[in-house]
Amino acid sequence: MADYYAQLGVGRDADADTIKRAYRRLARQYHPDVNKDPGAEDRFKEIGRAYEVLSDPQTKARFDQFGEAGLGGGGGAPDMGDMGGFADLFETFFSGFGGAAAGGPRRRGPRQGDDLRLDLTIDFSEAVFGVEKEVQLRHLETCGTCSGSGAKAGSGPTTCGTCSGAGQVRRATRTPFGSFTQVAPCPTCEGTGQTIADPCIACQGQGLQQVTKKLRINIPGGVDTGTRLRVANEGNAGQRGGSPGDLYVFLGVRAHPELRREGTTILSELPISYLQAILGDTIEVETVDGKESLEIPPGTQPGAVLTLKGKGVPRLGNPVARGNHQFTAKVHVPTRLSGEERQLLEQLAGHHSRKDQKPPHKSGLFGGLFGG
Ligand code: ZN
Repeated sequence: MADYYAQLGVGRDADADTIKRAYRRLARQYHPDVNKDPGAEDRFKEIGRAYEVLSDPQTKARFDQFGEAGLGGGGGAPDMGDMGGFADLFETFFSGFGGAAAGGPRRRGPRQGDDLRLDLTIDFSEAVFGVEKEVQLRHLETCGTCSGSGAKAGSGPTTCGTCSGAGQVRRATRTPFGSFTQVAPCPTCEGTGQTIADPCIACQGQGLQQVTKKLRINIPGGVDTGTRLRVANEGNAGQRGGSPGDLYVFLGVRAHPELRREGTTILSELPISYLQAILGDTIEVETVDGKESLEIPPGTQPGAVLTLKGKGVPRLGNPVARGNHQFTAKVHVPTRLSGEERQLLEQLAGHHSRKDQKPPHKSGLFGGLFGG
């Protein structure tokens, strides 16, 4: 795991200015033109990559939140597709070192904000009936002081003097095989082609601010573990007029001690005595709607499934349609009997006077009770 802060020799709370100064100092020290030590070039590239990540508020925020994984997969959610221009930023950067023809300056036009992921765990019954949750979210918002321009009030960005607005610089390298031209992002404007002479103090010229925001999220009934809710425009703010990203809330549902769930069906076990199984009964059972009465028909077999209709989970998006609650009968056969109980049962089995106790014949016991 690369620690870009350590590579630049700055603390995790370093501001944009400190990061920039550390990068410039190290880049001068390890530049392959000046430093001929073996490993200097690798170190130079390492410093460059660290600065690429930390100088950009979007990628810096992602690195702070998810580490390196956030940079590769994109916001910790690999299935979100395009993560707002991060890939093309790196392509430009690496092709610059590879000596290939680099593209135009990066980060110039509007840039869309990143999508963000938030994991939220809710209770079993909250998933069934829906709930409103307040969450805390850290995201980038457009700087209120400079309205995102990055420049102090009354000033604006000017064309970069180093690269004349091209965003990249060329460097000729002479080797025994000939002269090569390498293209690299302009170190002064970081490839934007523009510099801000008088940066906004509130955001240090980034045009973005990290903000912790409280957000109320309305979770509909019928959601389950793995349900993903999209909250539009609550991701990171865009830059230079780019639209903000979205927030994706990934839901997890806590297990219930007694109830399980399969889609819209709720499942639970129904412990009953052998007498209730044989004779039938009406008992109170626990459902997501509270206590309900359930009828056990006489002759209920172990493993039989009894159903309460409409006491299951509402269909997501159609709360009127609800699934069922299914109870699986678990018949308890006692291992200890009181003297009286034993006497009555033996009488029933017709074995009360016999000395050699053979196991009672099944059809004899039940046949006698239900008349065949
Ligand atoms: Zn600002």
